[in-house]
Amino acid sequence: MTKPTIYLLDDEEALVELHSEMADLAGFSARGYTRASQLFEQVTEFEADSIMMLDLHMPEMDGIEVMRRLAQMQNTPALILLSGHDTGVLHSAEKLCKAHGLEVIGCFRKPLSLDTLLQLFDQHSPNITNPDIRNQKPDSSHSAKAEIAILNVQQAIQGEQLILHFQPQIEITTGSMVGVEALVRWQHPEQGIIYPEHFLPLVEQSSMMNVLTRWVLEKAVKQGQLCQGAGFSMDVSVNMSALDITGLMLPEQLAELLDDNKLDATHLTLEITESALMGKLVTSLDILTRLRLKGINLSIDDFGTGYSSLSQLHRIPFSELKIDRSFVSKMGEDNEARAIVKTCIMLGHELNMRVVAEGVETEQQLELLKQMGCDLAQGYFIAKPMSGSELMNWAKTRQETAA
Ligand code: C2E
Ligand code: MG
Ligand code: MG
Repeated sequence: MTKPTIYLLDDEEALVELHSEMADLAGFSARGYTRASQLFEQVTEFEADSIMMLDLHMPEMDGIEVMRRLAQMQNTPALILLSGHDTGVLHSAEKLCKAHGLEVIGCFRKPLSLDTLLQLFDQHSPNITNPDIRNQKPDSSHSAKAEIAILNVQQAIQGEQLILHFQPQIEITTGSMVGVEALVRWQHPEQGIIYPEHFLPLVEQSSMMNVLTRWVLEKAVKQGQLCQGAGFSMDVSVNMSALDITGLMLPEQLAELLDDNKLDATHLTLEITESALMGKLVTSLDILTRLRLKGINLSIDDFGTGYSSLSQLHRIPFSELKIDRSFVSKMGEDNEARAIVKTCIMLGHELNMRVVAEGVETEQQLELLKQMGCDLAQGYFIAKPMSGSELMNWAKTRQETAA
């Protein structure tokens, strides 16, 4: 049987390689291009039932122009739209595609995780993707670069090269610190600090996500305990990946971790993005409900950027809503962004949730959030993510200044 074709168009060569590796694993024949002109020169007719992963931000001919060109062709591929920066743009791009009569099967921030990609392929070509693929790892015949990257990630986790930073969250009305978000970084021996967006997709791909999350949870819970011991009552938030909410034992394991470290469950918040809840709804609903029953808080992260936000809110017992920083950062000058922030705050409160604004970078934004009745704020204007010991000093200074 001939493999269906997937066209990859992205100006970042490393991502074309990574995604083609994943597509290959899923049983597709991948053709990568870093420039749109090159693709249109080489492909005058697309293969039947093909897919195209299209990056919207490209220097020479951007994704929107590519869509326009595609709309004039016959046998167009089904599209997966990708954006590296502005998630807001994905929504408009999707609408535009539909107006052009093009099929869109997904919109995502780059890079995609293997799991998400496989789910998309499954939905689009259920007869193609092999059910065993989810358990496979790339073998030695695949690109050496991806292999090495995966190996390095394993070393990072096992070789203590990971570090955890904490970013304070303040209560807007009082200005006091009430919590921190734990953010992982990779202290690479040669490359210096590597930020999560550059290595988490590889961790997911190498099936090491549960090891990383376990490490983050342990460190975060310990820091929470340490801060409480020093007299700062504060909550700790940890980001969870889609792969973390598939383990049915998670609620029990977490309860044990909290117990061992003598931290009350109500002081731990798990941040979950909407896309993390795509698929496997019954399992994730089971796990998330039991986590809530144990008193652990659930936060819907990057709210407003994903899909079916409202139905997720209705289904999942979230206790906190985090407004995505793309709206917060623009709220000073962009009326629409301001309206979205205001509506999110109202919606969260109507649903009895605590609302957090992330990415607060200016005094004006903080003031607007205060007027709108937002509960908590987090962002560079308040403090950048910092090490555990820096956090203790920061909290102390803040407490002294407030007194
Ligand atoms: P997130 O959960 O939305 O985290 C907030 C991100 O915004 C962090 O980026 C933080 O450093 C950044 N940030 C905070 N305040 C500001 C601000 O005022 N302006 C701007 N421009 N940015 C701000 P970071 O640390 O690079 O993390 C990126 C993403 O990686 C996180 O987004 C989260 O989804 C993921 N992540 C981080 N740590 C972990 C982890 O331990 N496990 C998992 N599964 N994901 C993680
Ligand atoms: Mg988060
Ligand atoms: Mg966020």
